[in-house]
Amino acid sequence: MPYAVTLIPGDGTGPEITEATRRVLEATGVEFDWHVHDAGLSVLEKHGTVLPEEVIESIRETKVGLKGPITTPVGKGFRSANVALRKSLDLYANLRPAKTYTGLRSRYDHVDLIICRENTEDLYAGIEFQRGTEELNELIDFIGRTTGQKLSKDAAISIKYISVASSRRIVKFAFEYARANKRRKVTAVHKANIMKFSDGLFLQVAQEVAKEYPDIQFEDRIVDNMCMQLVQKPEMYDVLALPNLYGDILSDLSAGLIGGLGVAPGANIGEKYAVFEPVHGSAPKYAGQNKVNPMAMMFSGVLMLRHLGERDAADRLEGALAAVIAEGKNVTYDLKPRPDDPTAVGTSQVADAIIAKMQGK
Ligand code: NAD
Repeated sequence: MPYAVTLIPGDGTGPEITEATRRVLEATGVEFDWHVHDAGLSVLEKHGTVLPEEVIESIRETKVGLKGPITTPVGKGFRSANVALRKSLDLYANLRPAKTYTGLRSRYDHVDLIICRENTEDLYAGIEFQRGTEELNELIDFIGRTTGQKLSKDAAISIKYISVASSRRIVKFAFEYARANKRRKVTAVHKANIMKFSDGLFLQVAQEVAKEYPDIQFEDRIVDNMCMQLVQKPEMYDVLALPNLYGDILSDLSAGLIGGLGVAPGANIGEKYAVFEPVHGSAPKYAGQNKVNPMAMMFSGVLMLRHLGERDAADRLEGALAAVIAEGKNVTYDLKPRPDDPTAVGTSQVADAIIAKMQGK
């Protein structure tokens, strides 16, 4: 039976990298029944949104999505398609591996990190109070009454919201991932020494969950120390579990450790659904030029194959990607020593080279 997968090419350079990724996934021999749905700027005029409801409906049906990047139009009233997808499908875990491959221009050799970022709450829950509003003034009065702290009314306030349930499920996700993928250690990242109630709660829940997984090592790190440690000795770390904001920042830091956006894959995963996508955006200035690197989306495809239980196919595709990167010949401009290198190849040629590698050529 082919796997039903919702395929969202996105906009900007999305359709080119999606097509290249579709080709390499099919070349693994795994069969797919692609449910292709447009989203992004191309549908904005017709639907009044970059993410029509039918796209979400399709993922509810297939349970799995593979998505190219979508431009968020600048201006008021536009919700990011990514935030909307995450919320509608309760994709609570943002999984972002960061791994070095020979041939990537990185300062490090042995990075192999799995970032598990909580995707729904923390300072990103969208609970904000604008300066000068009645609600803000009420809140400042309430804080004054209950804590004795007299806040200035020319301030703005964003709420850091962390619950037991959401902390539990992201930490459990990290441990389950570690167990399923034979990883050795989970590190919980926090600032519980300062934010004793919110981050303190996250840490306390992480410590409790860790007791359910005696086969996996557990430790915690304060987020600022974690940043320094990742830059100094990233090879010491394995799976990281983080609340939303720290996860956002540390996953970009980790992408920087391994050679940049062109090779950084991601996934948004919930109890019922999963959507796989590159970390990078739509790079609109290169749209239609067969220029950008499709590998981040291809590595996202590797994650999808593993999620579907197709481990052999995932290993073969990852091996072919690693071999093409190591050779350094059939790679796009961003993986060459200089961006104007005339030997850089285009998006579709990268796919050709990876398919040839999988076919043993
Ligand atoms: P971007 O990731 O599109 O581009 C940042 C830089 O990285 C650019 O210099 C670009 O040329 C380069 N780059 C990106 N992807 C590349 C690739 N595959 N190969 C080679 N070089 C690559 O970020 P941006 O310019 O900040 O965002 C553009 C649009 O994408 C915005 O509208 C933003 O909202 C959207 N965006 C979407 C997603 C998503 O759909 N998941 C994620 C991030 C940004």
